[in-house]
Amino acid sequence: MYDVMIIGGGPAGITAGIYCARANLKTIVFEKESIGGQIASSPLIQNFPGFISINGAEFANNLYEQATNLGVDIEIEEVLSIKPGKIKTVVTDCGEYQTKTVIIATGAKHRLLHLPNEENLIGNGISFCTACDGAFYKGKDVAIIGGANTAVTNALYMSNLCEKVYLIYHGSKLKCEKALLDGLKEKDNIEVLYNSNVIRYIGEDELEGVVVQQGEEEKEVKVQGIFISIGLDAQTSVVENLLPLSEQKYILSEDCNTLESGIFVAGDCRTKAIRQLTTAVSDGAIAASNAIKYVENESTLATA
Ligand SMILES: Cc1cc2nc3c(=O)[nH]c(=O)nc-3n(C[C@H](O)[C@H](O)[C@H](O)COP(=O)(O)OP(=O)(O)OC[C@H]3O[C@@H](n4cnc5c(N)ncnc54)[C@H](O)[C@@H]3O)c2cc1C
Repeated sequence: MYDVMIIGGGPAGITAGIYCARANLKTIVFEKESIGGQIASSPLIQNFPGFISINGAEFANNLYEQATNLGVDIEIEEVLSIKPGKIKTVVTDCGEYQTKTVIIATGAKHRLLHLPNEENLIGNGISFCTACDGAFYKGKDVAIIGGANTAVTNALYMSNLCEKVYLIYHGSKLKCEKALLDGLKEKDNIEVLYNSNVIRYIGEDELEGVVVQQGEEEKEVKVQGIFISIGLDAQTSVVENLLPLSEQKYILSEDCNTLESGIFVAGDCRTKAIRQLTTAVSDGAIAASNAIKYVENESTLATA
């Protein structure tokens, strides 16, 4: 019997694990792929306080070392379902486990274009987050893929850093707020390519550009970086029959609590304004504190 079961070994889940283990709770993290979550594939992190510059794989390794040194159990197993109740049962692809509390930290995944060599170029010219990676492209040319609020916001942000920004959108009319459209009109270094689809990446180990199809025509757009801004998919299928989700499938939550007693949520998988490392680890600490209080209350009630 565990005190806390954490689903997801990204920054949010591991932070929750660290807090729970330090509070002396018997804690396990289940991770279906590899520890570190999304950040493990980042070549460089420069916005996490305390680290001037660190590579994502090293950061992920530190998360693993720190958690296991504190006594957190970590298992590479995919959680398939959770049965609620005073004692919860977590079902994985390897077995069933009992726990007093669960913290869901299953994160999200950026949507991809699903073109050849994409995985290899992520971190080598393909990025998703201008706040994280924008500074690496100062003085260079980049393309933003997408046409809704995030894409246009990213284009405006990068136009302050870059020589030239292409906004490549498959539609004929951008789907963003008027204020953003007005912002675009004031920029002479942003070129919007409408009715355009990226059909190929140029470059083997480093992105050198993209091939764009406009109707029958194909043209090369030479850029050093692209930001794919076509949305994130919340990884919440494991709780879709258990917890209320937003339209975009994020777990609806304030303060990392959920409507199910003893089930908490942390990180990118919940409704929130900013999905970043700092907010993920903040959530991990809050969800863990909620779980610690819950376990304490339950044991006080049991002994009263
Ligand atoms: C390429 C890239 C670069 C980035 N760079 C930065 C940066 O420089 N600075 C910054 O602040 N942010 C950056 N981010 C964003 C940051 O990585 C995320 O905000 C952060 O990782 C969210 O942490 P999380 O723990 O909530 O979720 P995630 O990192 O998504 O981790 C969730 C984990 O849960 C696991 N999981 C999901 N479902 C299950 C299941 N059913 N069973 C078991 N395990 C499961 C997943 O495999 C995953 O490992 C970057 C993101 C990417 C993709």
